[in-house]
Amino acid sequence: MSKPFLFPSYIELDKKALQTNIQFLRGRTDKNLKISVVIKGNAYGHGISTFLPMAEECGMNHFSVFSADEAFDALNARTNPETRIMIMGMIRNEELEWAIENEIEFYLFENSRLDKAYAVAKKMGKKANVHLQLETGMNRTGFHREEWEPLFKKVNSLKEDITVAGICTHYAGAESMANHYRVQRQNEQFREAVRLAKKYFDKLPLFHTSSSAAYLTYPEMHYDMVRLGISVYGLWPSRETFMYALKKNRKHADDPLKRVLSWKSEIMSTKWVDEGEFIGYGNIFLASSRMRIATVPIGYSHGFGRNLTNAGYVLIHGERARVVGLVNMNMITVEITDMPKTAKGDEVVLIGAQEGQDITVASFSEMTNNLNYEVLTRIPQDFPRKIKG
Ligand SMILES: *Cc1c(COP(=O)(O)O)cnc(C)c1O
Repeated sequence: MSKPFLFPSYIELDKKALQTNIQFLRGRTDKNLKISVVIKGNAYGHGISTFLPMAEECGMNHFSVFSADEAFDALNARTNPETRIMIMGMIRNEELEWAIENEIEFYLFENSRLDKAYAVAKKMGKKANVHLQLETGMNRTGFHREEWEPLFKKVNSLKEDITVAGICTHYAGAESMANHYRVQRQNEQFREAVRLAKKYFDKLPLFHTSSSAAYLTYPEMHYDMVRLGISVYGLWPSRETFMYALKKNRKHADDPLKRVLSWKSEIMSTKWVDEGEFIGYGNIFLASSRMRIATVPIGYSHGFGRNLTNAGYVLIHGERARVVGLVNMNMITVEITDMPKTAKGDEVVLIGAQEGQDITVASFSEMTNNLNYEVLTRIPQDFPRKIKG
């Protein structure tokens, strides 16, 4: 049974923003590129089950997850049987049969996994759809250079049971110029793989290497497909990528990407506190004059970090209300002395817009010293997600 009670806060998704982002991203290339939308980390906190069908409605039909359990969620969420799901990371041998049965694509980066996938596919009489991940310099997972030729030869000979849907690699930080040479060297390695693959494959797979940062910075790395996460959600991989993209694309005076997610709650209670009193635990905040405060049911257990103590702010009626005192496990107190209209039940925005004011994910990340990726994925999985409008 689903819970009959409302959660203390919720996530709102903006479909128009998503459409805008997809349109902008498609416009970044002349090629007929395939876009795989990366939805690992519960769709960057947006919620796979709500986000995926919304993205399908915006024309997306390929999604990348990290692990088999996320692929399971994506499979349950999809509304179009043509929608493809790709596992870029963790899958166990015991999960291969399920993946093959449901035509889930998955990365291969070890020979033992290739042998296993082949055996399972053969037994099932159903083809496995795999992407060969190549080691080009990230040094995480992937087949090494000396393995490429024997690997290509081998999988091509197994084509009755194994379809190589893609050959891919991942760059070690295309969002920063500091990694420019490393990323360039990786791409040179990959170009060598493309050359070799042409020699060994009867039917060429899709080549793919780029996440958002590489896609927006290095057109020569687009190949046939790109795996886009953060930019689809309307955020930039880094300030550097943003500056670079703006410089190349002067017709956009302001940010062409629109944030899809908002995070909202409501006022739980209000009260007056006398001058000279401490607010909340310990002696973290002293009221230097008579103050009115509101409690908001959001705390560090919800991803609202303790480092926002005496430092963060939220929006109420389009005005900033600062956090006073410690961030608790499930609650914060904010000052509303100069907001006489404010009452219990009023909307509180933690991330998002309200009456012309805005708290961006970037400003939230700056407040908390976290990457925007981290802020988003820390939003609990069980918070309700609804589509705006
Ligand atoms: C997360 C991830 C992406 C997407 O990265 P963004 O910066 O969010 O676009 C692409 N490829 C792989 C392998 C990833 O793990």
